[in-house]
Amino acid sequence: MSTSGPAPTVSDVVAKLERRFPPVWAEEWDRVGLVLGEPTAPVRRVLCVVDVVPETVDEALAADADMIVAHHPLLLRGVSSVAATTVKGRMIHQLIRAGVALYAAHTNADVASPGVSDALAARFGLTSLRPLQRPAPGSPAHGDDRGFGRVGELPEPMTLADLTRHAAAVLPVTSWGVRAAGDPGRMVRTLAVSGGSGDSFLGAATAAGVDAFLTADLRHHPASEHLAADGPALIDAAHWATERPWLDDLAAFLREALDVETLVSDLDTDPWTVHAAAPVVDDKEPDREG
Ligand SMILES: [Zn+2]
Repeated sequence: MSTSGPAPTVSDVVAKLERRFPPVWAEEWDRVGLVLGEPTAPVRRVLCVVDVVPETVDEALAADADMIVAHHPLLLRGVSSVAATTVKGRMIHQLIRAGVALYAAHTNADVASPGVSDALAARFGLTSLRPLQRPAPGSPAHGDDRGFGRVGELPEPMTLADLTRHAAAVLPVTSWGVRAAGDPGRMVRTLAVSGGSGDSFLGAATAAGVDAFLTADLRHHPASEHLAADGPALIDAAHWATERPWLDDLAAFLREALDVETLVSDLDTDPWTVHAAAPVVDDKEPDREG
């Protein structure tokens, strides 16, 4: 809670965030930084979210937050109107009317060390962490321990089936849950994790020689081709669930760096709301009555 001295400004918060997650570390296609807000406006309360959606905007307004720090950019592609006739336009109007600033730290937070995937790795107690994919030499993010995803050792080896159940227990709960691809009895000692969509790191997971790779948004063809080529087992969690753990680290960083109060959104903003597990079939014969 802010009690001593004047509240930091939006500019102060931005400066701290950009020292920790320099915008030049973001991928070329990404759009990070301050989206909305008066630089001189005071910030007493910050809400940390994965997604800026109507529900998290409502949460920010109800909590009287002065600023939202989000992982996903609200405006990734060019827009020619922010009229309140679209979902995004309406949110922008609500936030500006309520004087709420909005900041996004996306791939620059993914690649940072510690970054988004460190928080995910911590949920599994992974040790001896290293990046799954380092930025290309010469790119601004290259250096130190920075990179996308993390590779580490599990405290105890376990089968893929057990690890999948464990993942469902240690990750934030979603309707999507957790599914895995590969031999359920395969022993997993070394695990790669990457918060968010991890399709593009399948090759890196194979190159890293891990037993399994946990990420989100995996698709049929890339996954089956990867497994056919003897790649690591795959664990597919909900996108939001793989990035929500980072919000605690982000909030702790903001509290340490600035005299602000922080709130972390636990609203599941994953779009999937219903999941039906297939019924367990004991018989090998398909149930033609069913
Ligand atoms: Zn994401």
